[in-house]
Amino acid sequence: MLKKRIYLDNAATTPVDPAVLKEMMPYFMKKFGNPFSAHFFGQEAKVAIDNAREQVANFLGASSEEVFFTSGATESNNWTVFGVLKSVKTSAAAEKPGSIFVPHIITSAFEHHCVLNSSLASEKAGAKLSLIKPNVDGVIDAQDIAKEITDQTILISIMYVNNEVGTIQPIKEIGEIIKNAKADRLAKGNKMPLYFHTDAVQAANYLKCDVDYLGVDLLTLSAHKIYGPKGAGCLYVRRGTRIAPSQYGGEQESNLRAGTHNVPGIVGMGKAVSLIEKHKKGLPKMKKLRDKLFAEIMKISGTQINGSREFRAPNNANFSFRGIEGESLIISLDMAGIAASTGSACSSASLAPSHVLTSMGISPEVAHASLRLTLGKDATEQEINYVIKELPPIIERLRKISGRR
Ligand code: PLP
Repeated sequence: MLKKRIYLDNAATTPVDPAVLKEMMPYFMKKFGNPFSAHFFGQEAKVAIDNAREQVANFLGASSEEVFFTSGATESNNWTVFGVLKSVKTSAAAEKPGSIFVPHIITSAFEHHCVLNSSLASEKAGAKLSLIKPNVDGVIDAQDIAKEITDQTILISIMYVNNEVGTIQPIKEIGEIIKNAKADRLAKGNKMPLYFHTDAVQAANYLKCDVDYLGVDLLTLSAHKIYGPKGAGCLYVRRGTRIAPSQYGGEQESNLRAGTHNVPGIVGMGKAVSLIEKHKKGLPKMKKLRDKLFAEIMKISGTQINGSREFRAPNNANFSFRGIEGESLIISLDMAGIAASTGSACSSASLAPSHVLTSMGISPEVAHASLRLTLGKDATEQEINYVIKELPPIIERLRKISGRR
């Protein structure tokens, strides 16, 4: 047994980087002002928020007025779906009073639940919803989206990297398709907006997030997945995008997101984003360690890798083991000092098989037998070797108990 516990659940959350914590610390006690106060304390906090906004804007290739701080990705994604829907519905009603307008949303069947459930709630409230299924490798075909776009489509939301299988989605390609669809619409005199949103929470550490390169109108980030604090995130909103406020009250965030700013959290988010490029230097090593997990764990009989190996973030490994109950495996690994998961931390209380894996055409039985290992920037070879040594006897023992091989 290693003396230290091994944390391989970095898709659920990451530890705060020491440099991020250092940056945040003064904003709890010494520089505690409310950025909306006119005095010195307030202005000190305002400068810190302006600086963080600039850091995020630089990362996204955006301008700082297009960055809105939120409490995290769940809020940003809810805001996207409900905010776009509300604003477009309101303007459609104003333009043609009495007309019936059924807005159409396109998203994927394996989004994080905060996008999926917001979209399903919108469907219940009368919107039309198309759920695009990924292929068996966990990748969306951009042409499947093209086929679904109608004159009433107002929002397309596709995640950049899936949180369970780490697969990379063709966001740039989808962005091109949407750009052409917008141009066609305008040529036909249809003024209905068509917005493209991506949840880039699991991509930010690894992939280019420049909003013009991707062709997105809205983009979500969360601080705690990039070595920043929990409870801070942002939504990029391209200038000119119609979106209703996420909550009403004061005039914070240009009147679109009321409420006193989480100053330390926002400062931490800005710093975390500014460190991403530096951390990218460690990605080849991370990928090598992850590939070692693939190679060694696949030697266990009755094992499969879930999701494409080619289009995949370098930190993610996801397996299914024949005859194994994922939950028992997680408990056994935890007892051996290894923190892993079967899938999304937000769904871990649910006994339903992963909606991500089943949407890829994986059977509920195989989906129940899954293990997600997600490496962090400080993962070591010693830790990976320990997992490789501990896992086979655990699988063997669990298979003996279940009587299934
Ligand atoms: N979107 C994705 C892809 C995620 O992985 C997560 C977190 O698990 C979220 C959204 C929700 O993020 P937050 O915890 O910031 O609300």
